[in-house]
Amino acid sequence: MRVWLRALAFAVAILCASPVLALDRNTFTFTKYELVGEIEPAQQRFSARGTITLRNTSGSPQKNAVLQVSSSLTWRSIRAGDQPLQFVTQPFTSDIDHTGALSEAIVTLPKEVPNGGEIDLTIGYEGVIVLDATRLTRIGFPESSAVHTDWDQIGKSATAVRGVGYVAWYPVSIEAGNLSEGSSLFDVLGHWKAKAAGGRMHVKLCESAGEGRRGKLMLIGASSATEQKVVDDSACVEETLDPVGLTVPAFVGGDYESLTAAAVVDYFALHKSEAQAFAQAADKAAPLVAEWLGPPRKPARVIELQDAAASPFEVGATLLTPLNDTDASLIQLAMVHELAHASFSSPRPWIAEGLAHFLQAVYRERQAGRSAALDFMGLHRTAIAEAEAATAKTAEGSPQAHDGRDAANSLISSTADEFIRSKSAYVWWMLRDIVGDDALRKALAEYRPNEDTQPAYLQHLLEKEAKTNLQAFFDDWVYHDRGLPDFRVASVYPRMTVAPNYITTITIENLGAVGADVPVTVSFAGGETTQHVRVASHDKTVIRVETQGAPEQVVVNDGSVPESTLENNFYKIEQPSK
Ligand SMILES: [Zn+2]
Repeated sequence: MRVWLRALAFAVAILCASPVLALDRNTFTFTKYELVGEIEPAQQRFSARGTITLRNTSGSPQKNAVLQVSSSLTWRSIRAGDQPLQFVTQPFTSDIDHTGALSEAIVTLPKEVPNGGEIDLTIGYEGVIVLDATRLTRIGFPESSAVHTDWDQIGKSATAVRGVGYVAWYPVSIEAGNLSEGSSLFDVLGHWKAKAAGGRMHVKLCESAGEGRRGKLMLIGASSATEQKVVDDSACVEETLDPVGLTVPAFVGGDYESLTAAAVVDYFALHKSEAQAFAQAADKAAPLVAEWLGPPRKPARVIELQDAAASPFEVGATLLTPLNDTDASLIQLAMVHELAHASFSSPRPWIAEGLAHFLQAVYRERQAGRSAALDFMGLHRTAIAEAEAATAKTAEGSPQAHDGRDAANSLISSTADEFIRSKSAYVWWMLRDIVGDDALRKALAEYRPNEDTQPAYLQHLLEKEAKTNLQAFFDDWVYHDRGLPDFRVASVYPRMTVAPNYITTITIENLGAVGADVPVTVSFAGGETTQHVRVASHDKTVIRVETQGAPEQVVVNDGSVPESTLENNFYKIEQPSK
């Protein structure tokens, strides 16, 4: 027994002595960045120096810290105050950067940092940021399309560089994310974003004089309006990019001109008419957004990307996009989204993003009616159902995994697009169907982002305005992830009362674990009639519907409630025997 114990102790000692096994990249939370960056467009060069503050959130004292930047950048110095620190650098394969790798510095701290303690590190690194889609091409994407997804670069004629998740131009410490392994990249980034959410980043970015002299340089963050300056010999912009967690900060430079309408549009001179189309679309979209959310609190902005095939990207209320869309109604929808962000902010992604997507659907409804709006949201219905099915699969057969799924994928916790953008848009739509436009608008007008510190804050605002209890709805859709409902028309009994009137008794069953208020529509010769019914999870609800004519068909759910399947929602009524 004693021999065995000693052997075990020896094994433990060996494990602890191995630096590779001991390297935990989650020990510190980066709470503050003070960075001065410089770009030299002609050489595509980037250099940065400054101070970062790391807080030990590991639960135990730490003697080492890990700092990562893009693999195209090189660490020059890491100090604590005036004291240079020892560090070793190594390449680290990870898809959080477009190059698919990071320059990782493992730093020996001057003394142990206790749990909860902080340390300031003075840092310097430099290199180039060039077009690089390695992380995509190595998993099989053709280079020709991959560069339009990973379009970031400091370019001779235009610069556009996004932050971590695209280009690690500021230091982080994140476990390897792998694009070829399911949600791995997404999970590590989500974890980092959640951790960094309270952080603060102040950046001064300068562009040196040279042949690459351009019109403008912009720093783009979540809550602040973009600053810009005309570059003369050399120029700098400064911005507090705060919070850094949920938004990916970016910088953009180029020979931009500007149009100011309900949104500011920065464009290249060649594309003035396209820029005008965006400005007009913003003017067209602004009244509806103001109706729902009040006037903008910061400018919405569109910045042209030079690559005409680039995938659009959003930072706060700023949309980075090529300006080649010509369909006015599509551009208006895009502008509704940015104006919504400019007018309303929330620390909760499902509220900020869900509301912006919801308002797009409301705008679509005004353009072309309710079913067009539901079709617009329906573009994401399959993605939501697939995301729910995938999370249900990982939770199968294990109570812990089940509870974990429930908590991690609830709208208040999730960072996945299918939840915080798509499912949440439906949640806002369903809330509107329950409480009505007026109560919803009033609650939104009452909403204060800094007071939203408890999950139930919004629920209580809505309950106050609508004078209705929303606990069951929020439990099913917001505080937990219980999957999706699955409605079926279980039975239909039409009965003629006084000709030509009928009363039809309809039983709606919900096979899913989530309750919802769902519209039930009965079509009859000469018209149709709709009732909203609440059907709890794994339950049935019976309704009686009067029609002035023989009922022909019953449909549950017009598409306003996301469901795991829509295949069992129709019931064709055999004409009653005379
Ligand atoms: Zn958005």
